[in-house]
Amino acid sequence: MNDSVLNDSVLSEITGPHRYRNAEAMLAHGERVWLRAAESGLLNIQVDHESNDRLIVRETGHEFSLLCSCSYLGLNHHPKIIEGAVSALRKAGTTGLSIAEIRVRLNLLVELEESLRDLYGAPALPGVSCSVLTAGILPLVASGHIGGGGPRVMVFDRFCHFSMAYIKPICGDESLVLSCPHNDLNYLEDICKKYPRVAYVADGAYSMGGRTALEGLLELQNRYGLFLYFDDSHALSIEGPRGEGYVRSNIEMNPLTLIVGSLAKGFGASGGVAMLGSEKDFQFLYRNAGPVTWSQNMDVPAIGACLASADLHRTPELGQLQAKLRHNIDVFDQRFPTRFSGNGLPIRLIEVGDEDLAVRLSEQLFRAGYYCSAVFFPIVARGAAGVRVMLRADFAPERLDNFCDVVESLMVSA
Ligand SMILES: *Cc1c(COP(=O)(O)O)cnc(C)c1O
Repeated sequence: MNDSVLNDSVLSEITGPHRYRNAEAMLAHGERVWLRAAESGLLNIQVDHESNDRLIVRETGHEFSLLCSCSYLGLNHHPKIIEGAVSALRKAGTTGLSIAEIRVRLNLLVELEESLRDLYGAPALPGVSCSVLTAGILPLVASGHIGGGGPRVMVFDRFCHFSMAYIKPICGDESLVLSCPHNDLNYLEDICKKYPRVAYVADGAYSMGGRTALEGLLELQNRYGLFLYFDDSHALSIEGPRGEGYVRSNIEMNPLTLIVGSLAKGFGASGGVAMLGSEKDFQFLYRNAGPVTWSQNMDVPAIGACLASADLHRTPELGQLQAKLRHNIDVFDQRFPTRFSGNGLPIRLIEVGDEDLAVRLSEQLFRAGYYCSAVFFPIVARGAAGVRVMLRADFAPERLDNFCDVVESLMVSA
């Protein structure tokens, strides 16, 4: 059946309302550049792994460094974490129990809950991924079941990660959903003055660089009882004495604050974690947080990897890796000053503006042995396309120098 069979009135009856998403509008733009990137050989690259600095394309023998990995500390290939995954599987003798965790769960998972609770100084709910935790928890913030007091106006920062924006339609079925200009505290304060209960949804450290306006947000929380929902995936492990991340290492937990993060980035394992502001939310979310309850939790190898990584976070090695990462960031910032220089976060954007130029730069870098992804609308704003560089602690100093030289020569010749 094709569109011509549907008359306009039927079409308008079954389309929309597109209040919070519009796939047609989004794909119309983004899909063209995706296909262009595919033609340039920048997608579906199939590799064998030797290290983050040595990925090998089997057919051609082409070797390259990954400069767009979120494994900021290089923990994704740490022998202790790999051993943790393997030994957990042997010890448990099962891949999992295949029953909702609220009913029956392995002591190994309970061990992880306790380990993360200790690490982060807060009740810590593990999940199969950060996105799944957000999908389960955010609608309960909107309805007021987390935070209390009834429905809350949900204010999403315009730059917040897709995994949160994606849940807007579900939140919108519970309460009023608004979008806030990036880090705009005045806008947010006006909303707080207008409505009695408000929640703000933001990244701690943003995927395209920069941080949330933490200090001002805490003031608004004090003054108006603002609920704060942070996704700190990009700062977990790389900041804080125990890798608590940017937000947790700068605040006291309270019942109006909740932090989620992915354990598949700096943490070097897989899964996600929610740091909760209230003890009673822990069991409540295990019972009621949608996909957290009805789908699998972490499988046994993931739990083992996370336990090993959490242990490693309690040793001096964490601080050493954090320092190496900071050093690499500083070296890059000195060569390529951007507006984020000196902010200590590992994500940098070499902005070129035009999407096709961004794809070409990414292609040239790949040929020279470095994979950095071209980013374009809707990942970034229209006309702000560029190449995203993500620095790692395990990026060898001589490779970094060479990478900077290559970027410089390509920028000059562009
Ligand atoms: C990568 C990322 C996610 C997704 O994490 P998963 O654990 O893979 O679901 C969520 N939020 C942010 C900010 C991210 O960068």
